[in-house]
Amino acid sequence: MPNQIDLVILGSTGSIGVQALEIVEANPDKFRVVALAAGSSNLQLLADQAKRFSVPVVGTTGDRETFTQMFTGKNKVEVIDGSKSSSEIAAIACDIVLNGISGSIGLGPTLAALSVGNKVALANKESLVAGGDLVMAFGRDQIIPVDSEHSALYQCFLSGKASEVKQVILTASGGPFRDRNKLSDISVADALNHPTWSMGPVVTINSATLMNKGLEIIEAHYLFDLPYSKISAVIHPQSIVHSMVEFIDGSTIAQASPPNMKGPIAYAISGTNRISKATAPIDWSAKQSWEFMPIDNAKFPAVDLARRCGELGGGLPAIFNAANEVAVEAFINRAIPFVKIVDVVDATVQKLGGNSPITIGSLSDVSAIEDDARVLANQLVQERK
Ligand code: MG
Repeated sequence: MPNQIDLVILGSTGSIGVQALEIVEANPDKFRVVALAAGSSNLQLLADQAKRFSVPVVGTTGDRETFTQMFTGKNKVEVIDGSKSSSEIAAIACDIVLNGISGSIGLGPTLAALSVGNKVALANKESLVAGGDLVMAFGRDQIIPVDSEHSALYQCFLSGKASEVKQVILTASGGPFRDRNKLSDISVADALNHPTWSMGPVVTINSATLMNKGLEIIEAHYLFDLPYSKISAVIHPQSIVHSMVEFIDGSTIAQASPPNMKGPIAYAISGTNRISKATAPIDWSAKQSWEFMPIDNAKFPAVDLARRCGELGGGLPAIFNAANEVAVEAFINRAIPFVKIVDVVDATVQKLGGNSPITIGSLSDVSAIEDDARVLANQLVQERK
């Protein structure tokens, strides 16, 4: 990696993007932001970011005129707009593209970045769930995980050889409802109130259903080329151990730090180097107690469902994810209750699974599968209102 890293940030106004820019601001000698991309939801913030970091190129799906009116920087900024703007920004020559987009709309930009040879710091797990074969066809060297569990695994793998890995263990906080017996009366506000992590709304809801852990099992399968039989998950309410690798000699290596996404973001955007004070370390002057316990699969069926979709492969993980995106949006809009989220996903997978292609050949294959899954999932939502 060069002394100063040229960085492109996709999803710059979201949770990951904002935290990445805080790391950049704290380390101006280490990073230069060469482009930003964001959706239409917070154009003012995008304009402020472009000014503060003197960014020469900005992409947005929002209105170009509105952005230009909001932008008050002295620097000259080129604006790329339209639905493909993130993919165009992703293909700008740079050292690292951070993909902090939420949802499987992040897949196109990931592929656009990889296809021109850019390295991708990948926070968009849906890229791997929906298009894992397409993404990994570019090789593992071009992708650096940002998801905290996968960043942990990446770091733990450095302790041994691939042939010495017995299994990997993803940790899950268990979300806000780990100890709650009745899930039928959960409100949107309850589900958005995560006990340990501060994240965007979709991933927070996915943590409450444990759908997030299911997606991360599929993510780990593609990222590290592991069979599903070697990927397990365990509840760890404190969210300090971010994941573990068990080696064949019976030794387990864990990566630990207080829950803060700045750790894995900084490690990834620096090209797997360690940035001084990226995040606060564990305070060993205070009593620590770390608990681990098995997942209650009857209460949280999402993890097993994800595993089954992952094992069947082909288009099923894309169907699984697209149905979940529809169901989560329906829950946030108060169209279905919390317990119906996994129900909608399960029913969509069962109905479409038989027709799912064995292999995914292109981005348009993924889009076609997702469109079918979204139409069906929306119908199933209507039936469950
Ligand atoms: Mg994670």
